[in-house]
Amino acid sequence: MEPTFAAQLAARDLAVVWHPCTQMHDHTFLPMLPIARADGAWLTGHDGKRYLDAVSSWWTCLLGHRHPRIVEALKDQLDRLDHLMLAGFTHEPAIELAEELVRISPRKTISPPAQRGEMPGGQRGDAFHDGGPTLTRVFYADNGSSAIEVALKLSFHYWRNLGRGARTRFIALTGGYHGETLGALSVTDVALYRETYAPLLLQPIFAPSPDAYEAAPGESAAECARRRLGEMRVLLERHAHEVCAVILEPLVQCAGGMRMHDPSYLTGLRALCDEFDVHLIADEIAVGFGRTGTLFACEQGGIAPDFLCLSKGLTGGTLALSAVLTTQAVYAAFYADYAAGKAFLHSHSYTGNPIACRAALATLSVLREEPVLERNRALAAHLASRLAPLADHPHVADVRQTGMIAAIELVKDKATRTPFPPAERRGLRVYRHGLERGAVLRPLGNIVYFMPPYCITPDEIDFMVEVAREGIEHAVA
Ligand SMILES: *Cc1c(COP(=O)(O)O)cnc(C)c1O
Repeated sequence: MEPTFAAQLAARDLAVVWHPCTQMHDHTFLPMLPIARADGAWLTGHDGKRYLDAVSSWWTCLLGHRHPRIVEALKDQLDRLDHLMLAGFTHEPAIELAEELVRISPRKTISPPAQRGEMPGGQRGDAFHDGGPTLTRVFYADNGSSAIEVALKLSFHYWRNLGRGARTRFIALTGGYHGETLGALSVTDVALYRETYAPLLLQPIFAPSPDAYEAAPGESAAECARRRLGEMRVLLERHAHEVCAVILEPLVQCAGGMRMHDPSYLTGLRALCDEFDVHLIADEIAVGFGRTGTLFACEQGGIAPDFLCLSKGLTGGTLALSAVLTTQAVYAAFYADYAAGKAFLHSHSYTGNPIACRAALATLSVLREEPVLERNRALAAHLASRLAPLADHPHVADVRQTGMIAAIELVKDKATRTPFPPAERRGLRVYRHGLERGAVLRPLGNIVYFMPPYCITPDEIDFMVEVAREGIEHAVA
């Protein structure tokens, strides 16, 4: 019999394509799935089978696939201007997007940090803004990792321009993930990605994460955060003179296992960075644009960072684009007569691509004009209610959630929280069960998580959780 078109595509793929984050040998037993189209929360394979995209295609597809307003903006832009180098030239989409990002960027609030604890993901408190925006300048790059490279280089170069070039190190958190290019990987602490390449990397200082899962017995998330701030203080006392910046993923350390921390950590860390005069880099590449219940995670700590890195959901999952926002103080340190040699040196060919900027503008206009965060609050509450029973499962150590991110930590032994040996690949069983049933669940090791597009419905949430529950039963059997 003639192989189906889907099977032919899979075979051609495996002959020439090298896939990311994949041991290609796995595809001797895992099918490669050619996808023909996508609509809202669903992917459709060339064989006609549908899959609920419970992980938003690696967290990029914020509002759902092919959102009509984004599609319309892309088509319109293609009829006008495709690409243009951003040195010496500019265009409306890049200007307008920078204006909009500055306008919505997190600011220091003088009110107490946002009220918390009533609902998963927290409520947005009354944010009394302290005058104008703190982040006033936008530098574009192509993807998340390049945004991190830009932020690290900008921070180092800022201190150098001030005559303090001895500052060459960064403080990062254990369990953090910031991408996989060499600079970004240097400040990443996920063994799977880092270990092999360690000899090639910068040597950051790792501070213990405020991860509430690792809290001491009986310690609350807020108490854990306070203790970790004390440890950060000790590191800064010792190292601030050689440190450019502290970098973290605010509220949720995503690729490191969807580990979550108390928002008070952000408030405390901002205060420490001010006290010791080092920069704070907030990597909101995964958590930005409403994921955690507020437009930006930093808002829940009432803080503005010195550098804000954005990508992934920025274009609604249509094109690669990233942006680094920074302050007037940083910008001013580079602004001088040419001969002073202070200019920032970094460029990517596709910097500020007009089509990608239009996709981002369309995404931001949906966030601005539709009650997306309100809808998300209701969806997050629904998700929480559906996940609650799983907490009693004998192989589930923790069910946690921050806004539209939820995770289930599978363990071998619940009482001692002993993990399953990674080689058993329990999460892979959940993944395979999901594909059979028509849901894309792609666990991080033994952590099953959900990061659905915001267009997901309560019924689809029920389906997603039910498939995960079944998958977990298979996985622990
Ligand atoms: C995905 C991610 C990155 C890297 O972005 P890429 O576009 O994949 O290079 C950096 N930081 C965080 C927090 C991420 O989730």
